[in-house]
Amino acid sequence: MSIRSNFATIAARHGLGSDLQHGAVVSPLHLSSTFQFTEFGVKGQYDYGRSGNPTRDELASTLAALEHGAGAVVTSSGMGALNLLCQLLNAGELLIAPHDCYGGTHRLLTHLEQQGKLRVRFVDQTDPVAVAAALQEKPRLVLCESPSNPLLRITDIQWLADLTHAAGALLAVDNTFLSPGWQQPILLGADLVVHSTTKYINGHSDVVGGAVVASTEELYESLSWWANCIGITGSPFDSYLTLRGIRTLPSRLASHARNASAVVDFLCSDSRVRCINYPGLETHPGHAIAKRQQSNFGAMVSFELDSGQVDLARFMNSIRLFFLAESLGGVESLIAHPASMTHAAMTQQARDIAGISDELVRISVGIEHDQDLVDDLQQALDAASWSKTGSVGQLHR
Ligand code: PLP
Repeated sequence: MSIRSNFATIAARHGLGSDLQHGAVVSPLHLSSTFQFTEFGVKGQYDYGRSGNPTRDELASTLAALEHGAGAVVTSSGMGALNLLCQLLNAGELLIAPHDCYGGTHRLLTHLEQQGKLRVRFVDQTDPVAVAAALQEKPRLVLCESPSNPLLRITDIQWLADLTHAAGALLAVDNTFLSPGWQQPILLGADLVVHSTTKYINGHSDVVGGAVVASTEELYESLSWWANCIGITGSPFDSYLTLRGIRTLPSRLASHARNASAVVDFLCSDSRVRCINYPGLETHPGHAIAKRQQSNFGAMVSFELDSGQVDLARFMNSIRLFFLAESLGGVESLIAHPASMTHAAMTQQARDIAGISDELVRISVGIEHDQDLVDDLQQALDAASWSKTGSVGQLHR
């Protein structure tokens, strides 16, 4: 359990009370796209909104504090953050990525490679032999996603950081599935942390945003320079909303965790559900590592239904409380079918290699009442179960 005891205080208060002009407790939202020079040839702290903005900077410094980084760059999306990371590579340099990463990440890296901008090896990062072989190829950057999306595979971040550094490369961890409230990769040796702040960090499904947190000033300077250069920085209004979301992150996470455990207990108890991927289960191959490097097992779960007992399409159409929608980490529960939704950008072959089957269902457990969530899953399973006559149950919607 590596979370600093004052995490909740940083989340609730970092940057508050900095308005010296009016004494506002909550910092004002600065929408201005441009800032006055103090005199000819002399600019103030800010000059132009793409390169710097007080509201975005407050979000960035809060994220850096939560992740124990030297600085953070706020981007317009999680993909923007991953794209920014790629700017650290010179043409032709090698990036090692997980073979089961988020579909959008897989698409970005595959297409950058096709354009000759970098080289990519997709590797099963839970396989020490495969990791060692890839590191022999002298990468510049290793990208890790733990837990991975959507299979919840766990990589030992400290182990990977040591190996990556010994190979002369940098380690970046996509921490979207846990947020700094549940995992702090820089404390485990990572050089960079990537977030889709769209997810737990904002938490209210009303902003698309991202961030890269750097462990050193030097990496931070380089990322800031590139973010301004390629115009990838996040908007002030989105930054304001995201910061507002962060204020309640610890409380939201507590509810997410409680509900996830009730939902997982239910899924484990129903014989129509199989292959439940949740690091909190003792049978999960990454359970011991997750217990060591995370402060909670999280609220993302994926599973397959027994097609002999349940019709998948009917199940998805029968769910009422879980929204059938992409994304995750919001207060509302979501359900998704990775093969046709979040990971549709991967080829069938890439999904097969990663182990993402057409039967896989992914849920993001929200903060509603846990019994309502369990009841919803139960009724959808009942509605989608094959009866003895071969027909499915009553559709409830
Ligand atoms: N990383 C992970 C693990 C994700 O799940 C996602 C999106 O789902 C992203 C990155 C991309 O983030 P965004 O949708 O904010 O661009």
